[in-house]
Amino acid sequence: MATNLLLLAFGAFIGHLGPRLPVLIMTRGKGFNLRFEPHPEPMALTPHLTQRVLHMRTFYWSALLIALLLMAFGGASLRWGSAPFGFGLWLAASWLVLSRLQGAFGGGRPAPWTLEMAEELQKAMNASTGQDRCCGGPDPHWYHDGIVCRSCGTLHASMARPDLGRKRTDGRMMGWVRLLITDGYPLTTAAPAADGKELPQEGVEQGNL
Ligand SMILES: [Zn+2]
Repeated sequence: MATNLLLLAFGAFIGHLGPRLPVLIMTRGKGFNLRFEPHPEPMALTPHLTQRVLHMRTFYWSALLIALLLMAFGGASLRWGSAPFGFGLWLAASWLVLSRLQGAFGGGRPAPWTLEMAEELQKAMNASTGQDRCCGGPDPHWYHDGIVCRSCGTLHASMARPDLGRKRTDGRMMGWVRLLITDGYPLTTAAPAADGKELPQEGVEQGNL
């Protein structure tokens, strides 16, 4: 009985971890982050940052494919291998598929990295270079809770910053644990917009861990 429970838990752990591996490891190497400030410093708005958001978005959705594979493995193990392990694997992987599809097709939590987020970054970048820029030397950075000009303090966008694939200061293991708990979602809520206009930013209403 205890062995079965352990196998079930192990299967569920693999089913939980497996689909998240791309987000956990793909961009954490030092070479991938040379163009970014080290975690957890605010990040300057550059095309590289916008590209990173889009990459994270791709990794997030690639989890669906991995989860489908794991569900197939789980099913096979249920039939021909260890039933508790297979069931745990199948359960965790199908839970991920269901919750992400729910996020995509209504009702559920939207992804931590979205196309709208990348567009918002681009808009803030444009606003800091155009005619009506905030000050003489605009230097917009993405802080925990929004995009703020370092020179004049103008809030360009009220948008909490999700994990952006940088190597985390809390070390690899703790970084993994934290990411497995948060799934990449920001730990802070978006800054209240000064002009009363708050950008659509759902899924950030969780407190600090
Ligand atoms: Zn400024």
